Amino acid sequence: MFTIGHASSCVGLLAAALLLAIGGPVGLAAAEPAYRMTFLDDRTHSEQIVEARVLVEAVDGGVLAEDVEGRLWSITPDRLRSKIGTAQEFEFMDADSLGEALRAELGAGFESHKTPHYVICSDTGDAYAEWVGTLFERLQRAFLQTWRQAGWDLAEPAAPLPAVVFRTQQEFAAYALKDAGPEVADKPGYYSIRTNRIVLYDLATAGMNEGALDLGEVERRVASAPERVATIVHEATHQIAFNCGMHTRYADTPMWLAEGLAMYCETPDLKTGSGWRTIGRLNVDRLRQYREFTAQRRAGDSLQTLICDEARFRDPSRMPDAYAESWALVDYLMRDRRDELVKYMQGIAAKPRLHWEDGDTRLAEFTAVFGDLQDIEADCSRHIRRLRAR
Ligand SMILES: [Zn+2]
Repeated sequence: MFTIGHASSCVGLLAAALLLAIGGPVGLAAAEPAYRMTFLDDRTHSEQIVEARVLVEAVDGGVLAEDVEGRLWSITPDRLRSKIGTAQEFEFMDADSLGEALRAELGAGFESHKTPHYVICSDTGDAYAEWVGTLFERLQRAFLQTWRQAGWDLAEPAAPLPAVVFRTQQEFAAYALKDAGPEVADKPGYYSIRTNRIVLYDLATAGMNEGALDLGEVERRVASAPERVATIVHEATHQIAFNCGMHTRYADTPMWLAEGLAMYCETPDLKTGSGWRTIGRLNVDRLRQYREFTAQRRAGDSLQTLICDEARFRDPSRMPDAYAESWALVDYLMRDRRDELVKYMQGIAAKPRLHWEDGDTRLAEFTAVFGDLQDIEADCSRHIRRLRAR
């Protein structure tokens, strides 16, 4: 699960027809000018002032901007009050400043915890923030190493990555509802492409009166919720992928690819204290769902509709099957067609922002790399049949 926030307003910007792409993906930023922008925020209906770089500028004066916290702002010309160069180069906030900004935004009771690559702002105990930070760091190391071994040397994120962890599910839900809408408020967490933040709640406090006091207690408590540990890893995978040059925020990244990858990485491992050990363990839950889907209701053109459009991901009754099929496809491509997958993903990574491909183009780009869809269907089915839940 990830949320892009106000997608409709970026599509609105696109209607200006001619777009000038200025910035590259985060992580590959060259020196760029910084601007002080004042605009009316269409989410809060209040005036916002941010220091930002311009990623895309439309001929009508609308902009897609990225501020120093890594948040994206899609600003239509009627809402843009001023855009003034600061005569400085654009630079992301360092970890201390980002921690301060998050604390100021979230209010009393929140503390910031730093790890080498993350800033975790939370109102839960130090022990849980430390546990989740360790998990993020292990995942990021393993993720970049997996792709390096596959021949793709991705960049470490150029800026500290933000995470917000609430003490209770209720606090999380209230924030999530305002930030991203009802579809994420009842989930254990989400990654927002708009704000670039992972938002979670403390699994070790859920259902308890008090937070865990030390790491050992956190580990004992989360051991009873492996599927929620999987959600943390899943959302953290999205965040890394969108910050290392693999995916580009507000560009056309097919859902099957982004979600399939996150599921490929998410498999929990309860034998370790962190609840997660390594990338690429067999995802037994998704395999079970996919087998049930193929046995009972999978349509003949399922692979094609998965690749061409996202309708099945938006329909709650079909979403679990679309996720399971995405996992199956990525599991097959990662294990049997890895070089071609890297080539395909590098093409996706180079897509311009604010341009969404149609189904025919998506299909053509997929088959140009992987070959005929019927052959892939047969190979993928054979791959899945061979898998054994261990
Ligand atoms: Zn996801």
